[in-house]
Amino acid sequence: MSVEHAQVQRAEFDQVMVPNYAPAAFIPVRGEGSRVWDQTGRELIDLTGGIAVNSLGHCHPRLIAALTEQAHKLWHVSNVFTNEPTLRLAKKLEQATFADRAFFCNSGAEANEAAFKLARRVAHDRFGPQKYEIIAALNSFHGRTLFTVSVAGQPKYSDGFGPKIEGIAHVPYNDLEALEAAISDKTCAVVLEPIQGESGILPAEQAYLEGARRLCDRHNALLIFDEVQTGVGRTGELFAYMHYGVVPDILSTAKGLGGGFPIGAILTRTELAQHFSVGVHGTTFGGNPLACAVAEAVIDVVNTPEVLQGIKAKHERFKARLQQIGEQYGIFSQIRGMGMLIGCVLSEPCKGKAKDVLVAAEQADLMVLQAGPDVVRLAPSLVIEDADIDEGLLRLERAVARLVRG
Ligand SMILES: *Cc1c(COP(=O)(O)O)cnc(C)c1O
Repeated sequence: MSVEHAQVQRAEFDQVMVPNYAPAAFIPVRGEGSRVWDQTGRELIDLTGGIAVNSLGHCHPRLIAALTEQAHKLWHVSNVFTNEPTLRLAKKLEQATFADRAFFCNSGAEANEAAFKLARRVAHDRFGPQKYEIIAALNSFHGRTLFTVSVAGQPKYSDGFGPKIEGIAHVPYNDLEALEAAISDKTCAVVLEPIQGESGILPAEQAYLEGARRLCDRHNALLIFDEVQTGVGRTGELFAYMHYGVVPDILSTAKGLGGGFPIGAILTRTELAQHFSVGVHGTTFGGNPLACAVAEAVIDVVNTPEVLQGIKAKHERFKARLQQIGEQYGIFSQIRGMGMLIGCVLSEPCKGKAKDVLVAAEQADLMVLQAGPDVVRLAPSLVIEDADIDEGLLRLERAVARLVRG
């Protein structure tokens, strides 16, 4: 059965939507793998992955099967009842990680909100009300709720909304001495992205995460890893902490977990989880059967040696070609990141032009992202075909050539 829909156009966005986004000039209507088609039938290659969300590209058959199978069974029951997909997903995540408890919600911000509240609750219960300080990194990003913008501490996201959440300190990323100077027995948690995503795809140094772990242990503070962007295979391991061998106390994840279906989660251990006793925290949609059924299929596909190994191989394929484009046109000074989370740092003469690269790429039928004004970000499907990588980067080269020639 097909339903007749009214015609809509991009121009209407500016009339009917709250203007907090500035979407591209075209409207995608269909996707398959790493290809997307717009209203006019134009085909684009998608290296954005819906901002590191579409882990298996568009309309992956395994995810369609999981979603439609569950759609015929049970959509939602609330947390007054549990459901089978929730329990299966929790068990799978726990078998695959350090964790033995999961809490499900609907987004990255909501996962971090839960992580920060849990950290404060644990400290409050164990050590008393004076231990509430959270230390976060400068230029970090943890979501757009008031708590998460307060923690991230970027004025462009946190200012102008009245009083912020108090008890948060900020230190430069990858600076262990600064963290050591800031941490104290008042600290309840240190929160870090293993790779700073939004602010430029900047990976943590090994010694930094190891040192952060040590300092947290010394001060009875919890180490929270925000793996909303780096989680679920994005870096070539199921979670980025596995690259470093540094285990957090609480891990938040979201984006790639649902492969395009909204879901977020925190993972932790029983002795911490117990501080969220009945009624202390909650969310109506969290653990929704549709979301969990899809996420379970995502984990089944991603958490295999073939796919994880493939992500590392694809990284090398991207990197070699991007370096070549960067050198030939003098546009990139560095290609950084891990797995299918890649930052192309614009060279000195091209600084601030990430948005121009996005626009030029779109004109060459290619979708890419930026991470701040100075970094072009790629976060494609974890199973993108080599042919799509090659064709995508050919289009990127055309866009760059046009841009550089003016
Ligand atoms: C995207 C992101 C968030 C926020 O996730 P939402 O689903 O947009 O709320 C939080 N932390 C990191 C590291 C992210 O990349």
